[in-house]
Amino acid sequence: MRKVYVAGNWKMNLVDDIEPIKKISNEVKNDIEVIVFPPFTHLSAYSSTLKGSKVKIGAQNVFYEDKGAYTGEISYKFIEEFGCDYVILGHSERRNLFKEDDQMISLKLKKILSTNIKPILCVGEKEDERSLNKQKFVVENQLKICLGGIENNFKNIIIAYEPVWAIGTGKNATPFDAQEMHSFIREQLSFLFGKNISCEISILYGGSVTDENVKDLFREDDVDGVLVGGASLKGEKFARIIETVNKSLI
Ligand code: PEP
Repeated sequence: MRKVYVAGNWKMNLVDDIEPIKKISNEVKNDIEVIVFPPFTHLSAYSSTLKGSKVKIGAQNVFYEDKGAYTGEISYKFIEEFGCDYVILGHSERRNLFKEDDQMISLKLKKILSTNIKPILCVGEKEDERSLNKQKFVVENQLKICLGGIENNFKNIIIAYEPVWAIGTGKNATPFDAQEMHSFIREQLSFLFGKNISCEISILYGGSVTDENVKDLFREDDVDGVLVGGASLKGEKFARIIETVNKSLI
């Protein structure tokens, strides 16, 4: 069975009421991993606060070099020191606002796969690309470039399908559309890494997930969890999402 993830991307925000997240995470089934992604500057503080709970911590980005003259960048060694088990790579905000391209994301991914940290690679089409029915073409290209040339540790990769038009807009993909894309992504993973490995890689859905729509999305066969932005910023709300996933897991 694939691991199920409920991940909260806090972006450039802090979350005060994390007690409900800690509480529910200690009660969920073992197949579920709850992860929060605070800003770099607060990784250490949240790492301490979350000690003793089952909530894992991750970073929202990382650079591909270990050290050196890279002003403003952060090495995997630093996030590792703060107890990060996961890192988000290629989030659409990194791609669109900070001009990260698939080649750069691929370098980051290869670096991270040589460490004990697990990458969550984000892919997804923009609104105009979907309106032209190009979503599969776009996602196929992102996967080919980001994952090309990877030779080992494939099983550590987690994919997040995040249609850009659904992020922060309140317009989530329908469960049908999400399943169609997730199954397409799994097919691409199978071309790249073989069928067996493709069946072991978790594919999360992200884009306006709430405690109301998560049940229907998670019901789909190839939706192995969720990456949540806005709705992860309130402890009670995020805890309800975790609880719903837990109850839906047979
Ligand atoms: C995200 O930024 O990864 C995200 C999914 O945001 P939201 O849930 O707010 O759409």
